[in-house]
Amino acid sequence: MADTPYLVSRLQGFGTTIFAEMSALAVATGSINLGQGFPDADGPPEVNEAAIAAIRSGHNQYPPGIGIPELRTAIAAHQAQWYGVDFDPDTEVLVTAGATEGIAAALLALCEPGDEVVTFEPYYDSYAACIALAGAHRRVVQLRTPDYSFDPSALIAAITPRTRVLLLNSPHNPTGKVFTRDELELIARLCVEHDLIAVTDEVYEHLVFDGEHQPLVTFSGMRDRTVTISSGGKTFSCTGWKIGWVCASPELTAAVRTVKQFLTYVNGGPFQYGIAAGLGLPGSVFRRVAADLEEKRDRLSAGLAAAGLSVFRSAGTYFVTVDIRSIGERDGLAFCRALPERCGVVAVPSVVFYDDHDAGRSLVRFACCKQLDVIDDAVGRLQGLTS
Ligand code: PMP
Ligand code: GLN
Repeated sequence: MADTPYLVSRLQGFGTTIFAEMSALAVATGSINLGQGFPDADGPPEVNEAAIAAIRSGHNQYPPGIGIPELRTAIAAHQAQWYGVDFDPDTEVLVTAGATEGIAAALLALCEPGDEVVTFEPYYDSYAACIALAGAHRRVVQLRTPDYSFDPSALIAAITPRTRVLLLNSPHNPTGKVFTRDELELIARLCVEHDLIAVTDEVYEHLVFDGEHQPLVTFSGMRDRTVTISSGGKTFSCTGWKIGWVCASPELTAAVRTVKQFLTYVNGGPFQYGIAAGLGLPGSVFRRVAADLEEKRDRLSAGLAAAGLSVFRSAGTYFVTVDIRSIGERDGLAFCRALPERCGVVAVPSVVFYDDHDAGRSLVRFACCKQLDVIDDAVGRLQGLTS
């Protein structure tokens, strides 16, 4: 008997996302929401002003299917300026409804039923659902605590003759890992050797504190086999706008575009102007965004450690992960469901991002993308956990 009547079998078991469950719990209990990753302050004012100006000046109808030229040009200029990769804004850039749609369209476009997609666990929840929607199968390689390294032989073993896509997320949600140059070199080499397409989710590309973001597309042999996906939501603190993009060779872009046009066709016309303005801001603005968030990461990490939790260092993203075994707890899901009652804070159990439930059972993710006084309030509440 299916869990969810009417739902196609390939999506049975996916249920409600943990983000919806935990944000609803935060609202219902009046708790501080360190679960779902969204900031509680606006980003650079130029970005919001450009979107408002676009609405006021009548840019309120369907934008072009591939995105407004101003944004596609800004995306191409951003890739060239930050990473030294040239993309043609007309044939190699596609604007999508957030990175979420870019990932879905890429997997639906590139995977035949029965193909395999290799990714790293823990993994962002939409990956599993989109792989399943495509009728493909996921093969996961584990990022192991405490440093979230992976065993190269596990990656080699995960690749089979059925593997079509390697799906990489760096900087990585939920761990905060930023893949190193050596790791990326290995991944690139394997993609070339096995003729795989890499789909990379780089939505946290500007939110790096330790190390630096190196797009996989910049590695040898990867220019024409990588679908690079990002989004303006994190960088510019506007997660509700859902303006993302895909950069890839003309052939790969055409494949992804063919699917994308039947998912949403277009989205967020005026917001596209806002993100175009944002991408053109000076580098100092991007560095400020990262520096602000780094301070928040430090404040949250120190507060979680003071509460007795074992904290893993986060090198980037909105997130910090802890192991609750240090306070005598074992089950992150039960812990997160009880946390609002116990101390008025919401977090996310990392186990939902794992196939290997034993590996993720005691791990819990907290979002650090909140104002410092909110973080202080939350960690103050958490100090009572061990008493
Ligand atoms: N990928 C990762 C790793 C994410 O954390 C998120 C959500 N924040 C997304 C994709 C989705 O991005 P968007 O909101 O642009 O659809
Ligand atoms: N990416 C956000 C997170 O990981 C949530 C986005 C969503 O709600 N799907 O918290």
